[in-house]
Parts: sequence; C-alpha cells; structure tokens
Amino acid sequence: MTQETKNSILIIGGGLIGLSIAYEFARNNFKVLVLSKNRGESAGFVAAGMLAAHAEGLENELLKFGQASQSLIPKWIKSIEKDSDMKCGLKKCGIVVPFTNKHELEEFPTYKYGSYLNQKDLQTEINGINSIWKYGLLFEQDGQIDNRRRLMRALERACSLHGVKFQEGSEVKDLKIEENKIIGATVLNATGELKKITCDKAILCSGAWSKKIFNKIPVFPIKGQMLSIQGPTNFLKRIIFGPKTYLVPRDDGLIVVGATVEKDSKFQKGNTPYGIKQLQEGIRSLLPEATNWPQMEHWWGFRPCTPDLKPILGESKIENLFLATGHYRNGVLFSAITSDLLLKLVQKKDLKEIEIMFLKKFCLDRFEL
Ligand SMILES: Cc1cc2nc3c(=O)[nH]c(=O)nc-3n(C[C@H](O)[C@H](O)[C@H](O)COP(=O)(O)OP(=O)(O)OC[C@H]3O[C@@H](n4cnc5c(N)ncnc54)[C@H](O)[C@@H]3O)c2cc1C
Repeated sequence: MTQETKNSILIIGGGLIGLSIAYEFARNNFKVLVLSKNRGESAGFVAAGMLAAHAEGLENELLKFGQASQSLIPKWIKSIEKDSDMKCGLKKCGIVVPFTNKHELEEFPTYKYGSYLNQKDLQTEINGINSIWKYGLLFEQDGQIDNRRRLMRALERACSLHGVKFQEGSEVKDLKIEENKIIGATVLNATGELKKITCDKAILCSGAWSKKIFNKIPVFPIKGQMLSIQGPTNFLKRIIFGPKTYLVPRDDGLIVVGATVEKDSKFQKGNTPYGIKQLQEGIRSLLPEATNWPQMEHWWGFRPCTPDLKPILGESKIENLFLATGHYRNGVLFSAITSDLLLKLVQKKDLKEIEIMFLKKFCLDRFEL
C-alpha cells in the first residue's frame, strides 16, 4: 500500500461535523474526500451557534464533553481563521438564563457554574428584559460563533486550501462492505449517475440522515425553526436563554431567535405559522421591545438526535468505518472536540484517559441494536 492510499479518508456528509473532521484530517496530512448530498440542508447552516455547555444545563459526561470542547475552541477557531483568512464571529459574550422563581434557579443542573443575578442585576445585564423574570444565572464562560454566515464558509475555505476534495450533490446510497470491512460506497452524483467510490477508511457524518445510510444507527431528526430580527447594534450584549426561546445577538445587531423543538416532524420541510408564532411569543416573553424590530429571515433544519440525547462517536461494528453523528442540540459546541477525537482514534494515538471515557460513553454499542 502506498503512503497516499494509507492516509486517505472518505467523509460522508459535508455538514458542520463533516467539515470539522475534514479540516482536522487534512491539516494532519490525510488525503480527504467529502461526499455531500446537499450542503444547504445542513444543520450547520441552521444553528444559532451558541457555545452553551453551561446554559444548556448539560450534565455528567455531556457537560465534561462540552467543557472540553469549549476549551479547545479558541485555538481551533484561530487556526481556521488563519488558514481561511476569514473571521468566524467567535465571542465569549456570556449567556444569561432567566428564571421566574428561585427554586427553578437552584435546581438548574449547572447552577454552581453560574453567577447569581437578582432582578436588578438581571435588568442591568439584559437591557429591557421582561419583568416576569425575577432571577438569573450568568454563565460568562459561554458564548457564540456565527456558524450560519461565517464558520461554515471559513471551514470550507480552509479545507479546500488544505487540499480537501468535495463532491457536492453526491448522495451515498449504500456502503460497500466486504468481510466486515468498508471498501467503498455507491454514490448518486449531481448529474444523476450512480458511481462506485473506493476507500479504505470512512467516517459517517450525515447528521439527521445517518440512519438512511447505516440503519444500525438510532439517529432521528428533531426539527427546529428559527428567525432573525434586526435590533440596534449593541442593544443586547449577552445571549438570553429562556426556557422555550433564546435570543443570540450578533455584532451587527442581528438577533438570531430560536428555536422550536418538533419531535414528530420527521423530515417535513419549511417554516409553519405555528412555529413562527411560537418564536414571536418567545421574543415577547423575553424582550417585549424587540417585537417591534423588523423580522429579517426565517429558516428551519433538523437536529440529529439519539434516544439518550448523546452523540454517537467512534468505531462502528464495521472495520475502518467510524461514526460521528447524533450531536443533537450541541453540534457547534461539540465540533472542535469531535474532530480532535476522531483524528486520534483513527491514528490510534495520543488518546488521553478522559477521551477514552468519552469514546466509551458515546459508543454505538451502548444501544441494544
Ligand atoms: C434549529 C437548530 C438550532 C441549533 N442551535 C445550535 C446551537 O446554538 N449550538 C450548537 O452547538 N448546536 C446547535 N444546533 C445543532 C447543530 O446544528 C448540529 O448538532 C450540527 O450541525 C450537526 O452537524 P452534522 O454535520 O452532524 O449534521 P449537518 O450539519 O446536518 O450535516 C449533515 C450533512 O450530511 C449530508 N448527508 C446526509 N445524508 C447523506 C448521504 N447519504 N450522502 C452524502 N451526504 C449526506 C447532508 O446533506 C448534510 O449536509 C442547532 C440545530 C438546529 C436544527
């Protein structure tokens, strides 16, 4: 086997996780091919971009995973920005979680990581917050990336400059397995031809659609609808993370508003009057003044969810087929650590004790298939 073949890898899915992994492998001298059915449908272009390990109230290994990724992100983003010559909008702006009563605040899973805010503090942190909110927790360590307008594009550019090849509009129809080892895939390409692609290693990163390719994976879609409003620049400095709605202020005053959580939507496309109404009510409940600000865009997407809401990472039961899917609500947050972990696993080196623990907790085998 030549060195070139030995170090090649096929990435199935060019969404946020696929691009993050492609970038990591390419800058570590792998020859990378990304097969992408439709970049436009990727949840990477949908997400609000919150880095909310604490504000999401994650627990146990998921919290540790989020915290570990959060600590990798600044260096990782710096490298993407340098390689792509594009900014990603990373901001440690802090996230405020508001509460109507003290009991809810004290019961919040990540309570001990936040700063306590009484109503006066809350109003100082969040200009114009609805007076129904009496308390808050401020997580200064949380923040955001502008995934939709910046990170996805910067990643694509950085990947291309590192020699990653992309086949956009190419849908993997099935995997070619021989003697329990992946040897390639059948692909329907953008011009409607069925092609066979060979590979000696592959990583499945097909988000909410993963089960369609590898039916042993218990991943299913949870739809989320979003919209944006244009506020005055610098009106809102922190993210507000309410129980049903969050407001994420970008530098230019655009506020990303999310998101519905639709469990039975399957892959039903489009925004709905009910979804938009829920978001508008959410804005009113958090920041009444913002109901007068012009609505800009609305969009939707599919979170890749698993039965226990944790990602599926690592080996599959098929030799040389690796899995990186099921990131559900926190794929932006988890992207840095996922790509780092997958590289170490495939290279079989440098795995630390905590990373071995993550691979154990997030393995496919935890499900009875
Ligand atoms: C409304 C909403 C808000 C969110 N907000 C946040 C947030 O604030 N913070 C956060 O951390 N996370 C957030 N997320 C979650 C995050 O967006 C996802 O976890 C993450 O994008 C998953 O990345 P992925 O690459 O697995 O999937 P995707 O980004 O969806 O990419 C999957 C890609 O695989 C391709 N594909 C599928 N099948 C095939 C096939 N057969 N052949 C080839 N390609 C295929 C698809 O076309 C797609 O481009 C949000 C998600 C949604 C929907």
